[in-house]
Amino acid sequence: MRSSGVARGRLAPMSSPESHIAAAVGRVRPAVDALPAYKPGKAAEQAEREHNIAEAIKLASNENPYPPPAAVVEAVAEACRSGNIYCDHRATAVREALADRLQLAVEQVTVGAGSVALLYQLATAYIDPGDEAVTPWISFEAYPISVQTMGGTLVRVPLTAGHVFDLDAVAAAVTERTKLVLLATPNNPTGTAVSTAAVTELAASIPGDVLVLVDEAYREFADPALGDPVTELLPRFDNVAVARTFSKAYGLASLRVGYVMAHPEIVSAIDKCLIPFNVNGLAQAAALAALGDDAASEAQAHIDAIKAERGRVAAALAADGWDIPDAQANFVWMHLGDRTDEVCIGLERRGVVVRPFSGIGIRVTIGTPAQNDRFLTTLAEVAQPV
Ligand SMILES: *Cc1c(COP(=O)(O)O)cnc(C)c1O
Repeated sequence: MRSSGVARGRLAPMSSPESHIAAAVGRVRPAVDALPAYKPGKAAEQAEREHNIAEAIKLASNENPYPPPAAVVEAVAEACRSGNIYCDHRATAVREALADRLQLAVEQVTVGAGSVALLYQLATAYIDPGDEAVTPWISFEAYPISVQTMGGTLVRVPLTAGHVFDLDAVAAAVTERTKLVLLATPNNPTGTAVSTAAVTELAASIPGDVLVLVDEAYREFADPALGDPVTELLPRFDNVAVARTFSKAYGLASLRVGYVMAHPEIVSAIDKCLIPFNVNGLAQAAALAALGDDAASEAQAHIDAIKAERGRVAAALAADGWDIPDAQANFVWMHLGDRTDEVCIGLERRGVVVRPFSGIGIRVTIGTPAQNDRFLTTLAEVAQPV
């Protein structure tokens, strides 16, 4: 321990090696010390090692089962050639292409290393210690981490019995301490969605200095009749921001590029918290190519296939007697309560890796038809509806 000798002189005797390390190496902020670690979905290879099995499949991270569009793969390979040169810090070309496509001013668009990075930038820009963010819960697990990193508190408003957002309760939870409202629609992990009309009502009922982030990571899989917060909310509410991503629908999860549309003042606050060159050159090339016509139609074919499979999986589960909430994203949610861990492990031992939310339920990503069949047959071996 290089630093422990320095610290030892002014520290009380340590009771365990762990506490010695924690106390001696720097002085981590209490907010960070208390953070839960973000838990990514388990890799298929890890499940194979743990259970000594072969050919596991991962339906645990809402990944697109299809590779990125061909034009994206080509553009990224080409961009590698300029890997020695720093990319454009602001990803200007991507902002311009998005603004053009979304019919917004370029000042209303920002690009980040995945929409999760933009969420962290938003928390960095708006949350001071003691500030609150409000979100329906259960929802995206990056929300508590990003808010608590800044010393803020995430106020969690329970979902209804039908696993949907109670937006009246969300509005009622907004206080003078509230800086942000975080709404994932479709929601992760329940897959349920709220309409833009319902979000409009919420936005109209809370103070204009509370920022509402509508997180549409799964928008492309949802029923278009739910509405469009970019066209319906942004012109009306300066305090609404909309986040979208190339990770899910376009299959670019590992390339890390997402975007936020909002009032220019919000965009510039988010931009101030952008880590230099965080949206790397390969990610920028990928996003630009993804916005081209060929890539977009290839991605749309994948989205259509995933939606069709979602319908098939949901119908098969319902036919088996499972009660599945309306699935508007690229996954289904099974509310299993106390049986969650047992069902998850049972599936995993048979090579089907899903995402457990201990004591609440499992989230199962829609994969290829063969993967989905494997999930359905394996589930029937492992568990029956009660
Ligand atoms: C997957 C997901 C994201 C997007 O993540 P990226 O950082 O863009 O890969 C954002 N919000 C929710 C709710 C998600 O599930």
